[in-house]
Amino acid sequence: MKVMLESIRRLVERLSPAPICEPCIGRRLDLPIDDALHAALGELAVERGFDRESGSCSLCEEHGRVIVRQDRRHAA
Ligand SMILES: [Zn+2]
Repeated sequence: MKVMLESIRRLVERLSPAPICEPCIGRRLDLPIDDALHAALGELAVERGFDRESGSCSLCEEHGRVIVRQDRRHAA
């Protein structure tokens, strides 16, 4: 779980500010799209400054739920 969280965090940060969808996270990290992945994404969104929102994935261009790093520190 911890390793998975870190892997996801690094992937999303590398892509930032581009959003990525859950299936692409699974494909990139070779993870199943299951409850554990959903839980990890939820934890990232709540605790680590990531947003889950509706949008277009920057990799597959599918519209759906994506995750993206918040960048509020640099917004001003
Ligand atoms: Zn995608």
